[in-house]
Amino acid sequence: MPPGAVHERVLKTAKIKITTKCNRSCDFCIFADGAQGENMPPETFSTILDRLRTIPFRQLHINGGEPTVHRDFPVLSSLARERLPDKVMVLGTNAITLARNKPLMEATLASYDQVLIGCDDEHGNYEEVHSVVPALRAAGKTVVINSVLEGITPDRLTRLAELCSAHGAIHVTNHVHHIDVGQPTNALGGLCARYLDQHLMIEVDGSCYRCFNAMAKDDSEFSVWDDDFAAKVFAPRRHHYRFCGKCHEYTDSGAPVVPAPLPVPITVT
Ligand code: SF4
Repeated sequence: MPPGAVHERVLKTAKIKITTKCNRSCDFCIFADGAQGENMPPETFSTILDRLRTIPFRQLHINGGEPTVHRDFPVLSSLARERLPDKVMVLGTNAITLARNKPLMEATLASYDQVLIGCDDEHGNYEEVHSVVPALRAAGKTVVINSVLEGITPDRLTRLAELCSAHGAIHVTNHVHHIDVGQPTNALGGLCARYLDQHLMIEVDGSCYRCFNAMAKDDSEFSVWDDDFAAKVFAPRRHHYRFCGKCHEYTDSGAPVVPAPLPVPITVT
């Protein structure tokens, strides 16, 4: 980079929630409404892809709910691959449909680079995970299995670790980190800097949150329908979301505004 050049800001991940439908009803999940959920219309998805082409980012996550239950999942996946060919395509799934439905597995193999799978007692998908991990790894996909420690027995955990080790998948564990499980409310000071340039979460209706914790309805900062979408993605954040007070992830930046302004370019005279 030449002296004096401005460091370009690059978003790590854009996540599109294409549906709030799911084929499971996990107790700890705040992102899905089971069979009562709604699918993102294809026109909205297409508009989002147009908008995303105007900003620098690295990975496109397709999430839900359970994204593979969206009736247009194969079409939406191939459209994203085609329109954003230089992005790492990541699918978040419980893998149940991938194990049972060959066309959905083929659509996944055709369009995605990485597959992230939640697997524990709540997901109830041990059999399906043991079936799909070898196939995904044989096709060269990066596979990450994520288990919530509060929802899995040591024996199950060991067997998943062995599966991942045998096939070169990654096994990670997590605690239930969702909001409002009895913890004291954060004393909010500065704004949360933990997700600076990390996640842009785009909801089914096109509303946007610069954080992965997008569960408070009608609290988004902007939407994909805004003409100045690209500017808003990197604009300073001046307010907490309503759910920040209950968030386990809160990191006090100490600053009243984040992200910090870009460095001012130095003019060579
Ligand atoms: S406090 Fe939590 S919800 Fe708020 S911005 Fe930080 S990570 Fe997101």
